[in-house]
Amino acid sequence: MSDYMFILESHLSPEQSAVLTAVQAAAAEANLSLFLTGGAMRDMLGGFPIRDLDFTVEGPAAKLAKDVAKRNNAQILSTDEHRKTAELQFPNGVMCEISMARQEKYGKPGARPQVSPATIHEDLRGRDFTINAIALSLNRASRGLMVDPTNGASDLERKELRAISNYSLYDDPIRILRLIRFKARMGFEVHERTMQQFHNAREAGMEKYIPARALFTELRHLALEPSPSEVLKALEEFKLLQLFSPGLTGAKLNPGAFAKLAKAKAMIPFGAPFSVDWYALNMFCLTQLLTPKEKAALLENTKMSKEEADPWQKLEARIKKLEALLKSAKLSKASQTFDALKKVPGEEILLLFLKSAERIVQDRLKNYFTKYMPTAMEVTDEEVTEASGLTPDQPKFAKARDERIAARLDGRVRKPAPPPEPEPPPPPPPGRGMLGRGRFR
Ligand code: ATP
Ligand code: MG
Repeated sequence: MSDYMFILESHLSPEQSAVLTAVQAAAAEANLSLFLTGGAMRDMLGGFPIRDLDFTVEGPAAKLAKDVAKRNNAQILSTDEHRKTAELQFPNGVMCEISMARQEKYGKPGARPQVSPATIHEDLRGRDFTINAIALSLNRASRGLMVDPTNGASDLERKELRAISNYSLYDDPIRILRLIRFKARMGFEVHERTMQQFHNAREAGMEKYIPARALFTELRHLALEPSPSEVLKALEEFKLLQLFSPGLTGAKLNPGAFAKLAKAKAMIPFGAPFSVDWYALNMFCLTQLLTPKEKAALLENTKMSKEEADPWQKLEARIKKLEALLKSAKLSKASQTFDALKKVPGEEILLLFLKSAERIVQDRLKNYFTKYMPTAMEVTDEEVTEASGLTPDQPKFAKARDERIAARLDGRVRKPAPPPEPEPPPPPPPGRGMLGRGRFR
């Protein structure tokens, strides 16, 4: 296995690995050259967590995307017929994008580029920043070969953002916002010439040419950022947030809500089965302090559809019943609070934590994050089998697990004693251990 394939596989979650295998299999069968590109490559090489998988194929990407979706029961979230890309969500939650390797020719800024099929090299040279223009071959004959025509890997090492061309920000001015977003997220420096290009493009007012839908895509990226408030602050410094809505300035950025949300996020135990619609939740926080007129401007400036607006506009209404339930005296036992919350979508629970002024609701939510979820995660299959005599393949096993979790939460049974520690090995004879052989010399 090549070094890069090894690094990749050790970086991916089991779910992402399964998606990588599925897409590779479909591309191999269709005889298409497939590459891992974009953010996935940047994040892998830069040591950041890989968020979603970006694939590029030399050939009919839309057909491959449909094929992959059909075989794997994945949902096609969006397609761009013009740019020949499709965004997919797999049943295991992994998101990926499948794009055709393409060349884009820009007539004038912000206008639709002329798109034509291209090789992976041509495609990479047409991207925004060098660190986003690295590909890894996933083809049988060259699997694990890195393609890096603009030296992105060394910019990554130097932690520097460098535009690929001198016209990058003019050709497609959404890159002005992308530059600031990546800079804020990764804490990278901007290469001197790119910074000069940025100032020139701003002086020429290039951001005025950003199409509404490109603004929406960027807004969605923003809402999916791990720390949106950092990026918001950076965009505000450069007076770029008003592009979304004139009201998005200063204190309206709701720093208090984002800080509280970050605190809640830190309480969620690592690996807990807790899925959150971050787009809905962060968009709620971002727009919470806007007036109806300022919100209307946001919808208009991004040409946001009802399906795109509903998740955050209707989020608050969804938590009313949950708050009433969590306030009620009916929940006298820990297991009852746990049951009331375990099937509720994460964005509702977190919003309730943000908004509820009720002490009892806050306490119950804190207990859910810091006590009940960790206890539930501790219950192993072996423990359930020992208590119930059932094995995981039996239909009643899930119920038995719920009963065991409830018993543990309510203190009716204790955590099983850990297995005894193995005897420590005898110390190595003097001078013969690792140290003796000079590993640390
Ligand atoms: P994120 O981690 O936010 O998903 P990303 O780099 O993956 O970041 P995407 O918007 O998912 O960003 O795009 C995937 C890749 O497509 C980018 O890494 C970049 O190579 C390319 N790309 C996206 N938008 C543009 C653009 N406007 N101009 C040039 N290349 C772009
Ligand atoms: Mg991406």
